[in-house]
Amino acid sequence: MAIIKTKLCALGVILLAIAVPAVVAQTVTMVRPQRDPSQPVDEEYTKKIKEYTTEKFFNSPLTDYLPASKSVPTPKAVLGDIAGAPGKLPYAEDVYKYMRMLEKASPRVKVFSIGTTEEGREMIAVAVSSEANINQLAANRERLAKLADPRTIGMNDDEADKIVAASTPIYYITGTIHSTETGSPTALMELAYRLTVDESEYYKNIRNNLVTLITPVVEVDGRDRMVDIYNWHLANPGKNWPNLLYWGHYVAHDNNRDAMSLSLKLTQNVLNTYRNWKVQVLHDLHESVPYLYDNTVGDQPYNAWLDPILTDEWQIIGWNNVSEMTKFGMPGVFTHGTFDTWSPSYLMFIAASHNGISRLYETFGNAGADTIERTLSPADYSRRWYKQNPPLPKTMWSQRNNNNYQESALLISLGHFATNGKYFLRNFYLKSKNSILKPTQAGPAAYVFPADDPRPGGQAQLLRLLQAQGCEVSRATAAFTVASPVKKSDKPDKPDKPDAADKKPDTADKKDADKSAALSFPAGTYIVRMDQPYSRIADMMLDYQYWAPDDPQKDIYDDTAWTFGELNNVKTVRVTDAKVLAVPMELVRGDIRATGGVTGTGQTFVINHNTDNELITLRYRFRNASFDTAEEPFEVAGQKFNRGSFIIRGVSADELTKATTELGLKAYAADSPPTVKTHPAKAPRIAMMHTWLSTQDEGWWRLEFDRLGVPYDYISTQDVSANQNLNSKYDVIIFAPVGRGTQSIIEGMPMYGNPLPWKVTPLTPNLGKTDETDDMRPGLGLSGVKNIQDFVARGGLFIAANDTAEFAIETGMTRGVSVQPQRNLKVTGSVLRSKPVDVASPILYGYPADDLSIFCAGGPIFNVSNFVGGGRRGGGGGSRLTGRGSVGHGDLVHNRVPDEVPDSPKVNPWEPGTVRPEDLRNGINVIPPAMRPRVILRWGDNSSLLVSGLLDGGGEMAQKPAIVDVPFDKGHVVLYSNLPFWRAETQGSYFLVFNAIMNYDNLNAGRKLAER
Ligand SMILES: [Zn+2]
Repeated sequence: MAIIKTKLCALGVILLAIAVPAVVAQTVTMVRPQRDPSQPVDEEYTKKIKEYTTEKFFNSPLTDYLPASKSVPTPKAVLGDIAGAPGKLPYAEDVYKYMRMLEKASPRVKVFSIGTTEEGREMIAVAVSSEANINQLAANRERLAKLADPRTIGMNDDEADKIVAASTPIYYITGTIHSTETGSPTALMELAYRLTVDESEYYKNIRNNLVTLITPVVEVDGRDRMVDIYNWHLANPGKNWPNLLYWGHYVAHDNNRDAMSLSLKLTQNVLNTYRNWKVQVLHDLHESVPYLYDNTVGDQPYNAWLDPILTDEWQIIGWNNVSEMTKFGMPGVFTHGTFDTWSPSYLMFIAASHNGISRLYETFGNAGADTIERTLSPADYSRRWYKQNPPLPKTMWSQRNNNNYQESALLISLGHFATNGKYFLRNFYLKSKNSILKPTQAGPAAYVFPADDPRPGGQAQLLRLLQAQGCEVSRATAAFTVASPVKKSDKPDKPDKPDAADKKPDTADKKDADKSAALSFPAGTYIVRMDQPYSRIADMMLDYQYWAPDDPQKDIYDDTAWTFGELNNVKTVRVTDAKVLAVPMELVRGDIRATGGVTGTGQTFVINHNTDNELITLRYRFRNASFDTAEEPFEVAGQKFNRGSFIIRGVSADELTKATTELGLKAYAADSPPTVKTHPAKAPRIAMMHTWLSTQDEGWWRLEFDRLGVPYDYISTQDVSANQNLNSKYDVIIFAPVGRGTQSIIEGMPMYGNPLPWKVTPLTPNLGKTDETDDMRPGLGLSGVKNIQDFVARGGLFIAANDTAEFAIETGMTRGVSVQPQRNLKVTGSVLRSKPVDVASPILYGYPADDLSIFCAGGPIFNVSNFVGGGRRGGGGGSRLTGRGSVGHGDLVHNRVPDEVPDSPKVNPWEPGTVRPEDLRNGINVIPPAMRPRVILRWGDNSSLLVSGLLDGGGEMAQKPAIVDVPFDKGHVVLYSNLPFWRAETQGSYFLVFNAIMNYDNLNAGRKLAER
C-alpha cells in the first residue's frame, strides 16, 4: 500500500489532477478489496444478497458476501430479512434500534443522539472505528480541533505535522435527506455491520485509520411518512398510492437548500455534529441518477469562494471512486455531469464552507423497496467520455442493487481516505490556515455591520446566523475609520444609491469628489473578522454573486444569488483595509440581540416601524391591545418615527418592557398619543391555504410564520371549496406559491382510479401534524374559486405570489392586471433591485423611500391598466412613425400649416395609461378609479436591475410592477412578482407581506385616486 507522504506538496498533486486524473488514481493504490478467506461467511445472508441482486455485475467483491459474527447481530435482526430486501423499508426507529444493538455488541461502535426534528423525532450519529480509536475519540477530537483552528498552535506547520501524524480523520456519511430516496438507511445499517466485523485487510485499514460517522436518516419526519406510504402501497396491491406530499414538517426537496440559513433542525443538527466532531468529509447520499453519479466533481461553475485545495480534492477522490468501481466492472459509475457546484445551500456544503470536503452520491433508487424493470433514455445509457461503462438501457432493478452501489462506492471512498488520511488531514489544516490568512491573501479583511443600522433586529438576526455557522463576531468598543478602496470590482453597480457606509455624516467633510474617502463607523459596530477559521462561510454569504448571461453552463442547478445583507435589508460593508483588524473590539459571547425595552413613562407607547420582523410578533403577542398605525411620519420629543409606526394602548408598561426587551424593540412611553393620522393595525385571523399537489414552497412561509409567532389556520383548497363563508373564520387568506398552473389548482389530480388518502391510520401513523384528507385528488374546484371571490368581495384580503398571483389574475379577481408573456428574460434565483412607487401605501410602511433588494425567481411580469381587458392607452400616445427629422421631432405635412400635436403624457412601464374624456363617453370597460390596481413597488431600471446573480433580457421586467394591490369590491388582492419568503434568506422582504396583513382592512390608506 502506497501512502501519499504527508509532506508532499499539495501543489504537486494539483498539477497531477489537472493534467491526467488517471495518474492521480495510480498514486493512491489501495489495499486490495477482497475478503479474508479465513473469516467465515454468513451463508444464509450471502445467499440472499445474490438472490436480490438482479445481475452479478451490480455487486462488488466488497459487498457480495457478508462476514459472519458470533456476537454481532446482522441487520436481519431488525429487518427480518437482509438489507435491501424487497418489501422492507424500516422506520428510523428500527434503524436506530439496530445501530444501538451494534453498539451493545461491539466496542467498535458508539451511538450519539444529535438532536431532534421539528416533530420531535430523534436524530443520531453512529461512530464506527477500531476499539482503540473509539476509546480515544475525545483526545482525537482535541487534536483535530487544533488543525481546525490553526491559531491555537500559532499557525505552526511543524506542530501541525505532529498533530496530523497522531490523528485519525473523521468521515461523516448522511443518509436519506430526501425522503423518496429510500435506500440509504439499510445500506448504512449493513455498512456499519461490515465495518464492525469484517476482518479482511481492506476493512481493517478503514477501521484502524478512520472514524466513520453515520447519520442513517437525516430527514427523520419525512422518512417515517415515506415508510407509511410504502406500507400503504404494500397493503393495497394494484392500487395507486398517495404522493409523498409532506417530507419534513415544512419543506420537501428544499430541505437540501438550507445550509446557509440553517432554518431547519436537520441542518442545525448536522452542522453542529460536523463542527463538534471536527469532521473532514461530509458525504450526503441521494438517489436520482443511474447508477452512481459521484457528483461533486460535476461541472463548472464552481462556487467562487472555495479553497482550490478543496476543488482538487473533489477531483482526486471522485476519480479514484470511478476508477476503482470501473475495475469492479460495475456499470454506470461517473463523476462528471451537469451539476454545478455554485450554490452553497446543499447540506453537504456545510463541509465545503467550513474547510472540509463535501461529497454527494446520486445512486439509482426505486422510491421504495419494490424490484421493478427500469427503462432509461439515451441520455442516461449512452457511452460518454466520462462514462465509459454506462448503465443498461433496460434492466430489472432492486433496492439491493442500490444498496450494493451505495456501500461499494462508500467503501472505496473510505478505503481511499483511510489510506491517505494524513494527506487529507494536512489539507484540512492548510484550508483552515488559508481561511485565517484571508485578510492578507485575497481579502477582504472584514465585513462590518454599522451600529446605526435602522434595522437592529434584522442585523442581530443575520449576525446570530453567522454565529450559528461558527463565525466569531466582534464589536468595536470605539468609533473607527478605515480606508474605502472604492474598487469598482468590489461593489455591485449601484448608480441610484450611494454605498451605505458613504452616507455616514460622521466623516463631516463632504468632499465626495475624493474617491478614496474613508469609511467611518460608530462605536458598537459589529465586525466579522476574516482572520478566523470559518471566514469562508461569512464571505460566501455576504459577498455578491455574478453569473454571466453567456456562461457555458446552461443547466443552472439552483439559485444564482443569495447575498444575505441585501436580502435581509441589513447594511454590510466589505472592508479590505487590514487596519480594521486593529480596531479596539471585543469578541461577542452569547447570541447577539438587539437592545429593546421601554423608555420614559406614560400610558401610551410608540414604537418606530423599521420593518424588523419582531414587530409582527409583538402585534400578535398583544392581540387584544389597541395598536394604531401612523399614516404619516411624525416626531415625538425629537425622535423621528416612520410612517406605519405603532401607537399602543391597553398594555401595561411591565408587560411591554418584558416583550420589547425579549424581542429587541424600542418603545417610547408618552402621556398622550402623538397627533398624527392613524388607523388600527390589526392582528387578523389568517388562513394559509395549500393544495394537495405540492407544499414545497409554501413551507418556507409557514416556517417563518411559526418562528415569528404569527398564528394561522392551515387549510387546503378542499376546505376552501367547501366553505361558502370564509369570512366567518378568516380575514386574510395566504396562497403561497404552488409551482403548478391555475388549471391544476382548480382540477387537482385526475379522478381516475382509487382515492388517495393522506391521514393518520394504524397503517400510516406518521401522516399527521400538517393536514389530512380522505382523498388528495380533488382540487379547489370552481366552487372554491367562487368562495375565494366572495371572501374578498366581502372585505377579505387574498395574498398571492408568483404562480398563485397568476392564478388570482386568471380567475378574474384582479381587474386591470395582466401577465406579460416572457420572451428572452432569464432570472435564475437572483437578487434584483426594486423601487417604491407609492410610499403612502401601508404595504411599504417602515421601508425607506429607497431601493430595496428583493428575490426574483423569474416571477410573472405584471402590466396594469385602467381598463377591463387590459390595454395601456397612453392618451393617444405611442412613438412617432417614419418621417422627417430625428426621433424627437415631428413630421411635416407639406403645403399645410404644421399641426398642433397635443402633449401626450409619458406613461411609465409600471403605470396604467391615462383615461381620456373620450374613453368615458361609453365607459363600459373603464375601471372606476377606486377599483383600479395600485402599484406599490416596481422593479428597478434596466441599467441597475441586477444586484446579484444572473439576469439576462432584464429589459422585459425592468420598471414593471413588482407588488400590486388590487381592490375587489370591499376587499383586496395583493400580488407579488418577487418571492417574499424564500428559504429563510429573504428576511428583509417579509414585511411586504406582514404590512398587508396588519392593514388588511385599511389598504386604501394614503391612496390618491385619479380624477377620471
Ligand atoms: Zn436527493
